[in-house]
Amino acid sequence: MPAVTATDLCAFIDASPSPFHAVATAAARLDAAGFEGVDETDDWGGAGSAPARGYVVRDGSIVAWSGAAGPWRVAGAHTDSPNLRVRPRPDTGRAGARQLGIEPYGGVLLNSWLGRDLGLSGRVALRDGSLPLVLVDRPVLHIPQLAIHLDREIGSAGLQLNPQQHLTPLWGTGPVDRGGFTRFLADELGGSPADIVAWDVMIHDLTPSTVGGRDGELLAAPRIDNLCSAWAAIGALLDAGSGVVALWDHEEIGSETNRGAGSSLLGTVLERLTGGDRGSYQRALAGSVCASADMAHATHPNYAERHEPDHWIALGGGPVIKTNVNQRYATDARSAALFAAACERAGVAHQWYAHRADLPCGSTIGPVTAASLGIPVVDVGAPMLAMHSARELMATADVDPYRAALASFLRG
Ligand SMILES: [Zn+2]
Repeated sequence: MPAVTATDLCAFIDASPSPFHAVATAAARLDAAGFEGVDETDDWGGAGSAPARGYVVRDGSIVAWSGAAGPWRVAGAHTDSPNLRVRPRPDTGRAGARQLGIEPYGGVLLNSWLGRDLGLSGRVALRDGSLPLVLVDRPVLHIPQLAIHLDREIGSAGLQLNPQQHLTPLWGTGPVDRGGFTRFLADELGGSPADIVAWDVMIHDLTPSTVGGRDGELLAAPRIDNLCSAWAAIGALLDAGSGVVALWDHEEIGSETNRGAGSSLLGTVLERLTGGDRGSYQRALAGSVCASADMAHATHPNYAERHEPDHWIALGGGPVIKTNVNQRYATDARSAALFAAACERAGVAHQWYAHRADLPCGSTIGPVTAASLGIPVVDVGAPMLAMHSARELMATADVDPYRAALASFLRG
C-alpha cells in the first residue's frame, strides 16, 4: 500500500496542471484549514490586524502565513514547470492536419512530450475583465514522433528536435480552422467566442501520477519539480502552525516578473503583516530566514559519472541541502546549519549536494529571494530523476521526510 501522503501528493499534482491551478489547489487546502484569503487591493484592517492565518494570491503565485508577527521562518517553492504554451494566433495546420501553435516555456525536455495524450489548462481573459480558469482533462492534443523510416540518422545523431518545427501538436483533421481555438475555449467556458480576448493556456500530459516500482518505492508524475515542494511547503505550514509559505510562478524563466520571486510580493505582504511600520518590518526581516524548497538531482544510476563523485544523492535518502560556492544556490554555512538542525529535530536524515565543477549549475528562487529581501536562504529539495521531463520520478520514501523537515524548519 502506498503511503497516504504519497497518494495525497499525486492528487495535488494531478489537480494542478498550470500555475493558476496549483495556486487554486493550495488555496483550497488553506481554506479547508480555516485560513482567510485576502486581496492585495483590500484594506487588511489597519496596523497589525491582518488575519492571523491568511493568504494572498497574485496570478500564479500565493503567499500564506500563520502567525503574523515577525521575524519569519519562510519556505519558498514554485508553481510553474517547463511545458508547451498556446500562442495568441494558434490555429494552424498542414497536409490535412489541424494543429495548434505552441511555444516552449522554460527548459523543456522536448522529447518527453512526444507520443502522449495531452490536455489543456490555464486561464482566459474575458471582455468583462474576468479571468476564469479552464481545464481540459481530455486527450485533445497529440505530438507524434517522426517514424524511424523517415529519420535514418536517429541511430547515429540521436533525436533532433527543433522547437519551432517539430513540437506543433495535432488536434484534428481538415483544413486550417481560423478562430477554431477561440470557439473551443468559448465552448469549454460556456460563453461566446466574442467574449474571449486572450489566454494563458498550456499543455499537460494526462497520464495520472502513479505510485509504482516493485514494492511501491517509486512515484512517477508530471511537475514533481516543483509541485512536490509546493505540496510539502503547504503541508508543513498546516503541520507547523506557524511560518510563511511563498509559492512562486515564473521560476523556470528567471523569476523577474510581476509575480516571480524577484517581485515585490513577499516583501510587501510581510511589511503589511507588521502593520505598516517600516522600522518594525525592517527589524523583523533582519531576524528572518528562508528555505528555498526545490527538487534536487538524485544520482542517475545510468549516468553516475555526470554527478560529483563525493556528493552522490540517493533516492529515498532524505532531503538534500544544495550548495554552490558561486551562489547558484543561496546556501551558506549559517543557513545550512539551520536546516540541518531542523532535520535533526524532525528525526530526518539529510544529504549534501554539490554540482560537478565542469558542468554549469542550475538555479532556484533561493538567490533571488536572498538578494531581494537580504535574508539568509538555504536551498533544499527532495531527490528526483528526469527533472524537466513531462514525466519525472522520485522515491515515495522521500515524501514524508521532506514535509516533516520543512515543518520543523518553519517551527524554528
Ligand atoms: Zn524547480
